[in-house]
Amino acid sequence: MLDGTTAEIRERQALRINPAKTCQPIGAMYAALGINGCMPHSHGSQGCCAYHRSHLTRHYKEPVAATTSSFTEGASVFGGLANLQQALENIFTIYKPKIVAVHTTCLSEVIGDDIPMIIERARREGKIKPDQLVMHTNTPSFVGSHVTGFSNQCASTIKYFSESSGETKNVVNLFPGWVEPADMREIKRMAKEMGIEFILFPDTSGVLDTGHTGHYEMYPAGGTTLEQIKAMGDSFQTIAMGPLASKAAAEELEKKCNVPSRLLELPIGLSNTDAFVNAMRLAGQVPVPASIEEERSRLIDMMSDMAQYMHDKKVAIFGDPDQVTALTQFLVEMDMKPVIAVTGTPGKAFEAKIKEICAEKCPEVEARAYSDVHFLHQWIKNNPVDLLIGNGFGKFVAKAEGNIPFVRFGFPIMDRVGHRAFSTIGYTGAMRLIEQITNAFFDYRDRNDPDEKIELVL
Ligand code: SF4
Repeated sequence: MLDGTTAEIRERQALRINPAKTCQPIGAMYAALGINGCMPHSHGSQGCCAYHRSHLTRHYKEPVAATTSSFTEGASVFGGLANLQQALENIFTIYKPKIVAVHTTCLSEVIGDDIPMIIERARREGKIKPDQLVMHTNTPSFVGSHVTGFSNQCASTIKYFSESSGETKNVVNLFPGWVEPADMREIKRMAKEMGIEFILFPDTSGVLDTGHTGHYEMYPAGGTTLEQIKAMGDSFQTIAMGPLASKAAAEELEKKCNVPSRLLELPIGLSNTDAFVNAMRLAGQVPVPASIEEERSRLIDMMSDMAQYMHDKKVAIFGDPDQVTALTQFLVEMDMKPVIAVTGTPGKAFEAKIKEICAEKCPEVEARAYSDVHFLHQWIKNNPVDLLIGNGFGKFVAKAEGNIPFVRFGFPIMDRVGHRAFSTIGYTGAMRLIEQITNAFFDYRDRNDPDEKIELVL
């Protein structure tokens, strides 16, 4: 499909080809699904909402419920006030959520709809009852990316609901950033193992990875409860993971409720997980349990066993800034050479961080923010790599380049299962990453080696 891609790279300012990102409301929708009993509401046309829902459904392999203001020509010209008021009335009557999280789309942003005013007016006119909770977040898709939308939704939730009662509790807030439901589960497991009291926000485990019961639940049992979101204002510290996805929420809570925060990279790989474990140890004033130390030692054993296959392997990686940054760190720890790292999300901090991480091992690294998969592909043509890591769209590049080893990582992955079920966070998650990477190398050799070179033992 991408066989026509040429090696000649032309710098582009006003054009993205196969962008390595998607639009803000998808992130807002994903974060809202991590709130217990929440109905995400898309204030725009049906097409936006259908696309966002289907993208999430295809990635998480779960039905994603969301409602829409269903703009037509009238709302596009005169504004979406009537549509949103009618929608809120219908949603509470028919779907009975605990809360509706309204996010905007390009269209409602361009029109300039004042969502807080519309919500307030609906309340004044009795279209929403006093106990029916509605919040909003602005998610214009012509800036940022889906990660910005996730970040905005998290910060807005805190702005609306977190409160300080004046009494500080011995509880740590854990903001996981944009990770899979399995990763959220793993973060909770590790925090429990450490013996600390915590609130995880948002929490899509138990929402987007539910078991099969034979009954459809519009609001599965998982998700951070409103009581927990309120109570986050009384916690004594926040550990926010993934700067782009979690920093705004941590800052909002600090500003509103005076809860200090500690910002970490996502706990992907050895040193990033060490930092997470250490932050929990310091916050809870607890020792690291033997079980966690054992997990760490098993990871180190696996890293040293597989080092012979990893050494100096050239890697191209693309995806979301928080995930690519943390994974690049792990690749360097495994003695690999990340030669190109691309994200579609704007922000120069990404490029600086990647260069810093690769300074010793691979100073020639090409780091690009606000770029695209087409650029990554052209770069690979000029400087072939041993491994490609990225979301499902990477398979077209891998195929065009002779089926180079390809590991799916990030969002979206619509052509495989397992990403929402098996964590890549923490020490055990890092072992899974090693498994995926080494197996990709082994599969490549099994596929391509001549018969006389095929080995049963690799
Ligand atoms: S980019 Fe804008 S118009 Fe397109 S789907 Fe996203 S919100 Fe809708």
